[in-house]
Amino acid sequence: MTEVSQSTDYAGQRSQELYGRAQRVIPAGVSSPVRAFRAVGGTPIYLESGRGSTITDADGRSYLDFVMSWGPLILGHAHPEVIERVRAAAADGLTFGTPCAPEVELAERIVDLYPGLEQVRFVSSGTEATMSALRVARAATGRDRIVKFSGCYHGHSDQLLVAAGSGLVTFGEPSSAGVPDAFTSQTAVLPLDDDAALEALFNECGRDIAAVIIEPIPANNGLLIQRTAFLQRLREITRQHGSLLIFDEVITGFRVAPGGAADLLGVTPDLAAFGKVIGGGMPVGAFGGSAEVMSVLAPLGPAYQAGTLSGNPVAMTAGLATLDVMEREHAWKQLEALGSDLEQRLSPIAAEMGGSLVRQGSLFWLNLAPGEAPRTAEAIPDTIAEPYKAIFQSLLQQGVYLAPSAYEVGFLSLAHETADIERLAQSLNAARDSI
Ligand SMILES: *Cc1c(COP(=O)(O)O)cnc(C)c1O
Repeated sequence: MTEVSQSTDYAGQRSQELYGRAQRVIPAGVSSPVRAFRAVGGTPIYLESGRGSTITDADGRSYLDFVMSWGPLILGHAHPEVIERVRAAAADGLTFGTPCAPEVELAERIVDLYPGLEQVRFVSSGTEATMSALRVARAATGRDRIVKFSGCYHGHSDQLLVAAGSGLVTFGEPSSAGVPDAFTSQTAVLPLDDDAALEALFNECGRDIAAVIIEPIPANNGLLIQRTAFLQRLREITRQHGSLLIFDEVITGFRVAPGGAADLLGVTPDLAAFGKVIGGGMPVGAFGGSAEVMSVLAPLGPAYQAGTLSGNPVAMTAGLATLDVMEREHAWKQLEALGSDLEQRLSPIAAEMGGSLVRQGSLFWLNLAPGEAPRTAEAIPDTIAEPYKAIFQSLLQQGVYLAPSAYEVGFLSLAHETADIERLAQSLNAARDSI
């Protein structure tokens, strides 16, 4: 290894230079907090290019990537067919602010693939998708209150930046500065995996609840695989009380099965939010439900929602190309095989580290705490953060890029091969000695 400093900062000179400049003109130098490497220490690596499962930084160093831009790149970096089609679409104009054919095609595909969905509308991020789905739910039910679960992330809209209140059945408090109490006072926060808490809340105020939003396979605070019975109970109780169930499938949509977690688990929500994979690397989100529920949206109905760049032809083409390749190559079967291989190779290593390997399809999480895989955020001890730093830095030095936080999951793509998984296992083994 070249230029390894005494500290655990393995970033090259060019990355350090760029980060220095960035910190003057961008808060903490980054456009999204986790990128600042605060949870693992050191300087963020500045990336310049990617091909398949490999990324290359501004200093010319290559890494095997298990972050894949946090999920969108399910075909790998710079997939030739996606790039070619995006290039062709771009040559005809980036955006018109009018309807276009690719948006119709992508909507048809999503509606075909996702259980119970009749209509979708496009936005430009997952944050907008969940925010808009909640607005639709409130408009459709005429109710204000919503419920989310602790440990689930749904983007950064005000109403969702909320922590549980102190009482048994209380509504939430802002978890971020800049969010007025009034904006979160209509959001209740429940623990995952807790039927009793769910029932208590619905008994108390079920008739006021517009919607419950959940990541059906929570993947933003570790990988908290739920009991299917809990999701079924959620389906039942929302239906009984006339509340809508929203699945946030921004990570799981088109990844864990063609029709997302709803398809995989056999639980159909009233509304679903998409992002990440559906844009194939371009900024795309979508939300949808039955034609009846979606008819509250302007100009059909009274709920306003809009976007200058929503459904633009280049972004829609990236999503379509991604789904085309996935269907043609039986992606879901391949990703499951790859994930299963990874689980087999990594589980013993994770156990030797005193933890476990948690996996669902092509999503995986190195859980550095002993015992059963946690199902709630509260069950993850904060002792996992410290040992992860050393593992992350050791992997980075060995040319393997895992997420820069112990709480983030890893992503496999169609571009990953058995050799990549072997290399991850070897590097983890070497890293084990550093903790
Ligand atoms: C990433 C993510 C979001 C937010 O999407 P952005 O495109 O980052 O706004 C929402 N929900 C889930 C489950 C996500 O993983």
